[in-house]
Amino acid sequence: MLLSGKDKLERMRDGRVIYIGSERVDDVTTHPAFRAGAQTVAGLYDLKANPAQRELFTFEEDGELFSLYWLRCRTRDDLRRRMRAMKAIADATYGLIGRSPDQVAGLVTGLAMNPSALETLHAGFGKNLLNYYDFARRNDLYLSFAVTPASGRRSLDLFPGQQRDDPNLQVVAEDDTGVTVAGMKMLATGATFADEILIGNLTPIDEKLKSEAITAALPLNAPGVSLWARQPYAVHAAQEADYPLSFRFDETDCVLVCDNVKIPWERVFLHNHAVMSRAIYIQTPANCYQNHQSNIRFWSKMGLIVGLASRICQANGVDKIPAVRETLGRLASLEAILGGMIHGQIEAYEEWPVGFATPNRRFMYAMLNWCQEHHTEIIDMLRTLLGGYPLLMPASLDVMHDATLRDRFERWWATPATPALDRYKLYKLAWDLVGSEFAGRHMLYEKFYAGNSIVVRNQSDREAPWEHFHATVDRLLDGIETPT
Ligand SMILES: Cc1cc2nc3c(=O)[nH]c(=O)nc-3n(C[C@H](O)[C@H](O)[C@H](O)COP(=O)(O)OP(=O)(O)OC[C@H]3O[C@@H](n4cnc5c(N)ncnc54)[C@H](O)[C@@H]3O)c2cc1C
Repeated sequence: MLLSGKDKLERMRDGRVIYIGSERVDDVTTHPAFRAGAQTVAGLYDLKANPAQRELFTFEEDGELFSLYWLRCRTRDDLRRRMRAMKAIADATYGLIGRSPDQVAGLVTGLAMNPSALETLHAGFGKNLLNYYDFARRNDLYLSFAVTPASGRRSLDLFPGQQRDDPNLQVVAEDDTGVTVAGMKMLATGATFADEILIGNLTPIDEKLKSEAITAALPLNAPGVSLWARQPYAVHAAQEADYPLSFRFDETDCVLVCDNVKIPWERVFLHNHAVMSRAIYIQTPANCYQNHQSNIRFWSKMGLIVGLASRICQANGVDKIPAVRETLGRLASLEAILGGMIHGQIEAYEEWPVGFATPNRRFMYAMLNWCQEHHTEIIDMLRTLLGGYPLLMPASLDVMHDATLRDRFERWWATPATPALDRYKLYKLAWDLVGSEFAGRHMLYEKFYAGNSIVVRNQSDREAPWEHFHATVDRLLDGIETPT
């Protein structure tokens, strides 16, 4: 099933409980903080439901059409197709929506390629996962996930002697019908617009915290669930041109709060296995499929950054200066490196698990680390090229509503090359990427969405063929003649 944007909006009006501070949001599709973001998400659904785009966005299985990102790839060509669909989705939102519908879908798809990882822990749970995978793709679900303990605590040993009463999400009761969970979890990006949320643990947790080791899925309007939103950025934007990205691309981040929420067994995929609650993402292609999408999304964002840098230099009249061209050349080369890294993941794909195809894990984790390391530097390059021009712009485009102010603005704020209004839009766009609250949130997102740098680099450490590297050194050492 391919959902239309209109139907997606309808699903968001399901009575879910969202708070902005103490304000209860009745309808995200009409609330000023969320309505433009909701339209952006609906736009993605319309994009992929368009019959003219079937080849790009869908695959068929047993006579049914599914969004392509649910494809469990078996060949390099499958991986290529899946990548093209995700690139088109990321391009449609300029790489600014991190948890677009194809993101967490990758995680569930990856789990569904090796459900035995769950089944061996608890009979029936692998089957639950497969059924959920089928349910999610059949209903074109938008999934979000919250897999980080909100208290920061992952081990009891970190706080010896302390009796901390952490509100980490955990199982507080269970019976024949399912489990009851209570507590909070961070940070459910996109949950405001999604249909369901996956809870679990992406960071390792202590064996002693077994009750927190629960992996399950639940609808966002389940009784007892509430979402506590951070400050939404669209409310700062009286009109789109003032903060064009805050206005349309705030994907939202919420803390998931559960007040004795009942989850039926059919929706439970892991329970009481602390170490395995993280390992399942690594022992299956889940983490790789999910973050392959993150890599592709970053590539799209890089395209926006490079194009914007060039446009700004043109507007500033510095684009012909050799030193400026060098910077632009560097940025363009970085964008090309990302494209190469993504194609490389597919070219050197792994035939893993048996019968399936997975992007090359080492290359994927290397790119994940690269993006985490370099995003701040790249944004700073853009900021440096910008100069102080964004602050030259009036506080709001409402100057256009006053004939006298408008006349002055249009004459004095223009340059021979660029009308005042175009300059305003350009610099405001750039400001929303380097200086606004939206920009600040993106700095944090790119640093942390896949875990802190220790977690991300650990993936590369784990996957590295150390024996091969050691053998290289040993071969060289063995060849060194030593006096006898
Ligand atoms: C914008 C945004 C969106 C997010 N979206 C989601 C989402 O959709 N779903 C989700 O589940 N989570 C999401 N997250 C949460 C994300 O998973 C966590 O922020 C991330 O795992 C880091 O955890 P933390 O914030 O607890 O920081 P920590 O892990 O505590 O790290 C904070 C700092 O402490 C350092 N540090 C931590 N431990 C050590 C150590 N042992 N030694 C040395 N230094 C250490 C880290 O390197 C880092 O600099 C999001 C986060 C952000 C910022």
